[in-house]
Amino acid sequence: MPEGDTVYRTAAKLRAALEGNVLSRTQFRVNTYANLDLAGLTVARVWPHGKHLFIQAGDHVIHSHLKMEGAWHAYRSGEKWRKPAWQARVVLETDSWQAVGYRLGILEVMNTSDAGARTAHLGPDLLGSDWDIGQARERILTRPARGIGMALLDQRNLAGIGNVYRSELCFVRGLDPRTPAASVHDLDALLALAHRMLWANKDRAQRCTTGNMRRGHTLWVYGREHEPCWRCGTLIQRHLIAEEGFTQGARPTADERIVYLCPTCQARPSPR
Ligand SMILES: [Zn+2]
Repeated sequence: MPEGDTVYRTAAKLRAALEGNVLSRTQFRVNTYANLDLAGLTVARVWPHGKHLFIQAGDHVIHSHLKMEGAWHAYRSGEKWRKPAWQARVVLETDSWQAVGYRLGILEVMNTSDAGARTAHLGPDLLGSDWDIGQARERILTRPARGIGMALLDQRNLAGIGNVYRSELCFVRGLDPRTPAASVHDLDALLALAHRMLWANKDRAQRCTTGNMRRGHTLWVYGREHEPCWRCGTLIQRHLIAEEGFTQGARPTADERIVYLCPTCQARPSPR
């Protein structure tokens, strides 16, 4: 699942292929931009912000978000695409590269001057030059009673964490995700850990939070329902979580997300 580290790596790949080069051909395969042609413009800059990705060409900025299924690939000219062409939403070509955006959750093109507004609401970027623990802590604590599991996922607090890191971070810090943000022991340590985890993974294809790269051992809890906890042997649980806590549905609704945890290592906070 794409999170801040995935987008960071994607940006690096696209930067290497596009930055400083002239677009020789562009195709937008979405209705809104079907007639847009950016050929002849030079790609000035490619940058990520949390889970958002920006590509500037001339006065235009292409903004995309991978959401659940999106991906950007960069191919050498003539190289075979590794995903079906019907999934492509945008193709940007230079003399030697083709960058293809597949199934992007968001794809929009705006003026350079409007691009900043797209991320103005986001909290500090875990992988950005603006990363600031104090600011992230302050934003989280504006809603002190909110469960930390929800707070970590809210990109307005800090940008870059998705479902996988949310579960992993709560496990490593021994936190039930329903723990009120204000009751979290050493919130700064949790935020510093979030930064370290994403930073360690920003350049590698296989996400790893355990320090063990062996297949099936790379994550503590995410995706490991009914398997024993690496620390205590208790079976890992999977829950749907929403603002009010765990919910009972079989599949997540729009407001619910999946969280994995060890009920022993992440004891439930005592009611106050
Ligand atoms: Zn455990």
